Amino acid sequence: MLLNTVERGNDLRIAFADFGQTVVRPRADRFYELRMLDLESWHDLANADFWRIAIRERDGGHGRSWHHFGAALEGLAAGAGDLGFVLSLIAHAGLLRAVSEFGSASQRARLLEPLMNGAVGATAITEATGGSDVAAIRTSAVRADGGYRLSGEKDHITNAPVADLALVLGRIPELGRRDISIFLVETLRTGVLRGPAERLFGLRTSPTGSLSMDDVELPSDAVLGHEGEGLKLLYNVISFDRMLYGLVAAAYLTPLLDLALQFAAQRTAFKSLLIDHEYMQGRLTDIRLDIEVTRAVSRAALDALVSGRPDASLSCSVAKLIGSESLVSSTRHVMAVLGHRGYMEGETSRCIQDALGTLIAGGTTEMQRKNIFNQMLGEMRDTQEAVR
Ligand SMILES: Cc1cc2nc3c(=O)[nH]c(=O)nc-3n(C[C@H](O)[C@H](O)[C@H](O)COP(=O)(O)OP(=O)(O)OC[C@H]3O[C@@H](n4cnc5c(N)ncnc54)[C@H](O)[C@@H]3O)c2cc1C
Repeated sequence: MLLNTVERGNDLRIAFADFGQTVVRPRADRFYELRMLDLESWHDLANADFWRIAIRERDGGHGRSWHHFGAALEGLAAGAGDLGFVLSLIAHAGLLRAVSEFGSASQRARLLEPLMNGAVGATAITEATGGSDVAAIRTSAVRADGGYRLSGEKDHITNAPVADLALVLGRIPELGRRDISIFLVETLRTGVLRGPAERLFGLRTSPTGSLSMDDVELPSDAVLGHEGEGLKLLYNVISFDRMLYGLVAAAYLTPLLDLALQFAAQRTAFKSLLIDHEYMQGRLTDIRLDIEVTRAVSRAALDALVSGRPDASLSCSVAKLIGSESLVSSTRHVMAVLGHRGYMEGETSRCIQDALGTLIAGGTTEMQRKNIFNQMLGEMRDTQEAVR
């Protein structure tokens, strides 16, 4: 309904919408009941070369762009109707892109092939003491035997219960003040423990859990980028994730709007169709507004990020904030239009539970606002410097 045929990657958007509809959607109820990641679809998706789309040909990918990957993910989110599954894909995508864009030749050679071929990735930042204040993390490593020994515990990490590889944010205290670094950790290593899936209110097809590391021996090339550069790299990695939340939100809401429209167009109340009542029209229009605005800001954020513009971080936070707030407000509208049917256990009640989780995962709404404000301050200082 809302596709623009001249958009970049439209072939992928259509192909993966079909994949989502025919492969993921029929399995979604079963995995929701099981509270598990749908690893069957995960492997089917890898076999469909989903993860190869934006990876360079020299690294075994198809050499298309992150715009093309975004289009494929939009298609999948619309077709699959399983927000949890798609959020697990976002967690993996963040790691995949990080290794592809910032990894050394040896890291790319060692890690990209499994990540494109069905291994599960995670991005582990949050600790039990809190997720918002990233710089307060305690996980830390010491240099040893030409490599590192890493210890610490991460909490509430998407995909952790089944992850094969994780991007882990930690410190190297001997570096001094700027000590935060990103470690690439295979979960098969001795000393790594993956916790069980947490019991969440929603997003049950996207398992979260702890990842603990007890004196884990890592090789010398376990650090992504340079030692002490972790925060700078992390902001790029999480900006990508935030932008994807927005793209996914708009795509996921689109078939739900169709569902609400179709229901309102055949259901009668007070001798008229629901669709003829202005309050209902208002709700349906608001969903469309959420979709249009979220899609526009998210695609603009993707452009900013891919072209390395200084406003990328701000734009990605806007996409995440608008996307998750839209998910919550629009899924509520869908339930309202469907009335009692919307409150029955099933797709429309589940989507509200799932939507609420997006207000926290990927950084809370408050943290997006804080980042937007900090970026604005930075812009103001830059302008003042320029006129001096
Ligand atoms: C479904 C799901 C998936 C997740 N997946 C991952 C993952 O893959 N990797 C990962 O690292 N983490 C993950 N998380 C954890 C998530 O990133 C954190 O929960 C989030 O960052 C908030 O951290 P917290 O829960 O510790 O809240 P806290 O940091 O303790 O904050 C509590 C509340 O206070 C607010 N707050 C904190 N500081 C301020 C301030 N300065 N001003 C105003 N308000 C403030 C917060 O916004 C929040 O509302 C996931 C969480 C969920 C729910």
